[in-house]
Amino acid sequence: MRSHDLWIDGAAALSDAGNRIERCSPSTGKLLASFTLGSCGDVDTAVMAARRSFEAATWRGLPGSERAKAMNKWAELLQRNCEALSLIEADEVGKPIAASRAEIEYGIDLVRYAASLAWSIQGRILSDEGADKLGIILHEPRGVVGIITPWNYPVVCLMMKLPYALAAGCSVVVKPSEFTSGTTLEIARLASESGIPEGVFNVVTGTGAEVGEAISGHPGVDMVSFTGSSAVGKRIAQRASDTTKRVSLELGGKSANIVFADADIDEALEGTLQAFTINQGEECCAGSRLLIERSIADEFLTRLAERASKIRVGDPRDPATEMGPLIHEAHLERVLGYIEKGKAEGAKPIAGGRRLSGSAYDKGFFVPPTIFTGVTTNMSIFKEEIFGPVVSAVAFDSLDEAVDIANSTTYGLAGGVWTQNFDKALSVVRRVRTGMMYINCYLQTIAQLPFGGMKESGFGRENGVEGLMEFLEVRAAFAKLKTQF
Ligand code: NAD
Repeated sequence: MRSHDLWIDGAAALSDAGNRIERCSPSTGKLLASFTLGSCGDVDTAVMAARRSFEAATWRGLPGSERAKAMNKWAELLQRNCEALSLIEADEVGKPIAASRAEIEYGIDLVRYAASLAWSIQGRILSDEGADKLGIILHEPRGVVGIITPWNYPVVCLMMKLPYALAAGCSVVVKPSEFTSGTTLEIARLASESGIPEGVFNVVTGTGAEVGEAISGHPGVDMVSFTGSSAVGKRIAQRASDTTKRVSLELGGKSANIVFADADIDEALEGTLQAFTINQGEECCAGSRLLIERSIADEFLTRLAERASKIRVGDPRDPATEMGPLIHEAHLERVLGYIEKGKAEGAKPIAGGRRLSGSAYDKGFFVPPTIFTGVTTNMSIFKEEIFGPVVSAVAFDSLDEAVDIANSTTYGLAGGVWTQNFDKALSVVRRVRTGMMYINCYLQTIAQLPFGGMKESGFGRENGVEGLMEFLEVRAAFAKLKTQF
């Protein structure tokens, strides 16, 4: 069993309260790790460490190219520890080992990409205001950033924020999810080992109610960057408003995956399956609303159900496993609750639809891929984020109808469109109000593309140059010169 302390000022640190929190395997129930249950006092200590490092300019004072070199060294260390990090991720999240490895590799890519951006942080000069005047625009680090992350992608959600904050020159206090804190603590230890100065990257583990609230209300924190549910995001925005902190929010979703009759049906089928089963459906961009053109709907759904029943659900450490358990018992109950509600409202599961049982499953929280037909757009399973491997299918007759259904949600995170007519795909992309759309694929992206939500899926952008800009303050100076040039 692993035992972790906090990480403050470049070293492991004990909590002032001395309480612990335990994480058991979501597939076997065995004890995996013990984390510190951090307190408000621990958040104070971590924020002070971050503040000291920021004021002393031990990190932000370095040229961007030097920060980039330190970050590349950190990426090399992460690469050397990729397997160990993947195993922690598989154990704590319940994520299949192949997907865990892919997550860590992508997280390392994000460090390398963000490091490359640190080479070219630039303001502007307005030089045409007369010979004795200059307008100067500066891009400077925002300051101390609080980063709060969820349990479904502990590494990728962290790495869509942290390396960009570090590239910008910020100091950070991170609060990972209390269920999946192991990789974040290891990543912090490796950052210190790579020479990122003490106090720049601090981690306080614990609950949202104590540590998360303390970070989002702390007067020493200049910005909060949050990924998690829309409900908690709204609460964080309220807390942060007392000290007018900048906030960036990556929240929930209920994305529409739209399949037209002229799609490459085999590809659309595989992509549709991935869209709601990847990461056990614990995926903010999951294509959990399936919109199919009526002329192909029956055949497509029959084939999808056949394919879904063959997904291998089981031990996350087994390389053959395609779907692991849900994160914890309360979440299992929530997902099963939605499945029962769907049935009660008149929808029909044509695959899955119940908890898995048997010796391989009884100690864990396993739900198979579940496909609902007979769905209407006012049902809870069609409107609310379930965050499990459940998809609700409806048929449509025209592009206009598909777009209207896709937009009939309070969320605006992502969506997919499958057609071999690119003009049609682009028309859907332009009309569906989400931050991210996938064309003839689902959940594939690259570090250079900005990611983020609209509507109740949040605001702010991660990745890409836009992801760096989130952590840069834009300042200006106007200069009247004595010497005329
Ligand atoms: P959550 O909102 O319950 O928790 C997220 C984090 O916030 C955790 O670290 C938690 O401890 C903390 N927290 C809880 N209450 C808090 C409070 N009052 N103040 C401050 N922090 C608090 O979310 P979760 O269950 O961990 O993750 C699932 C949710 O995350 C889903 O809604 C999913 O869509 C969303 N998500 C969004 C994205 C995205 O990029 N948009 C990515 C991954 C997950």
